[in-house]
Amino acid sequence: MSKTLTYAAQNAADALKPYAIERRAPNADDVQIEILYCGVCHSDLHTARNEWQNTLYPSVPGHEIVGRVSAVGSAVTRFKVGDLAGVGCMVDSCQHCAACAEGDEQYCENGFTGTYNGPVMGGENTYGGYSERIVVQESFVLRISHDEARLAAVAPLLCAGITTYSPLSHWKVGPGKKVGIVGLGGLGHMGVKIAAAMGAHVVLFTTSPNKREDGLRLGAKEVVVSKDPEQMQAHANSLDFILNTVAAQHDLDPFLNLLKRDGTMTLVGAPEHPHPAPTVFNLIFKRRSLAGSLIGGIRETQEMLDFCAQHNLVSDIEMIDIQNINTAYERMLKSDVKYRFVIDMASLKKDAAAA
Ligand code: NAP
Ligand code: ZN
Repeated sequence: MSKTLTYAAQNAADALKPYAIERRAPNADDVQIEILYCGVCHSDLHTARNEWQNTLYPSVPGHEIVGRVSAVGSAVTRFKVGDLAGVGCMVDSCQHCAACAEGDEQYCENGFTGTYNGPVMGGENTYGGYSERIVVQESFVLRISHDEARLAAVAPLLCAGITTYSPLSHWKVGPGKKVGIVGLGGLGHMGVKIAAAMGAHVVLFTTSPNKREDGLRLGAKEVVVSKDPEQMQAHANSLDFILNTVAAQHDLDPFLNLLKRDGTMTLVGAPEHPHPAPTVFNLIFKRRSLAGSLIGGIRETQEMLDFCAQHNLVSDIEMIDIQNINTAYERMLKSDVKYRFVIDMASLKKDAAAA
């Protein structure tokens, strides 16, 4: 066991504070990673504040983890001490159901184990990346082939990257396709970059007019302020696919109206309060689909990391010390982040020194 300093929420109302946990010593098939950087996902906030009403406290969020391997078990073959490594949203699954067999561990029929708040299959609570180190079985650890100098900006790929890459790839986004990305936050900005790299004509839909220039710089060909009905109408019945990343309840109909016949809108945003049900006629008159998608499998996450390395894609980040995590949450709620907060885990040492 190793004593490990973390930042944890003890309940839904209070700010995150330093909290010591024990991590297991690596088993034969485990990799121990000293965490260098951890991205801040809106799911961390939903969980810390119990917005999905399933939080186990104490809760240590963080599932966009990159770091350096500090120990490996005797059966580990793909990692050695000193290697860079990543951990995303899952650390275990049943490994024998149909979904796991196809590499879709996120849809594990027995419930995957989340990197934090994870014990769906029983067992102890899992603690995420707002911590000094983590111990994870090798089959859930990702290789990182990006230039090490960009490591902090690679961290958000482990959730924001895969959560957008997986549906874009599943719904065959590519050249000749007109693709909408709704919401320019952590997920949305990776969605714009990845869909553009896949060769699609990307249209960004944002509620923030001041994000226009950034949208174009990140790879969108057009930017639409979604609150302006005239701008929306100009794209009616024209999109092949829409990826909706919005973190709050909103009306889906104005977006469904933008889809072509047979077009699909996939929801990845997981707001605290449900969206109002869309108008059925908006679906049936053009055989449109409304779908959802959850992160991505481990094999696909590796594919995404390699795709991003090849296309020189990383996240646009603002680095913070962990002591500022609560302020970062408040700013995230105001859509005031360009475009992902990443915690410099070296800052945890300040609390270790004070402890
Ligand atoms: P984020 O960085 O906070 O971005 C969300 C964006 O949504 C904002 O930047 C904003 O973009 C837009 N938005 C926020 N409030 C809005 C409102 N009231 N009306 C319209 N637009 C609004 O969050 P994130 O980390 O990208 O996460 C987005 C959502 O995806 C969260 O709910 C998160 O839990 C969920 N998520 C799901 C999965 C999955 O597997 N399905 C994985 C990770 C995260 P504009 O300023 O451009 O409008
Ligand atoms: Zn996430």
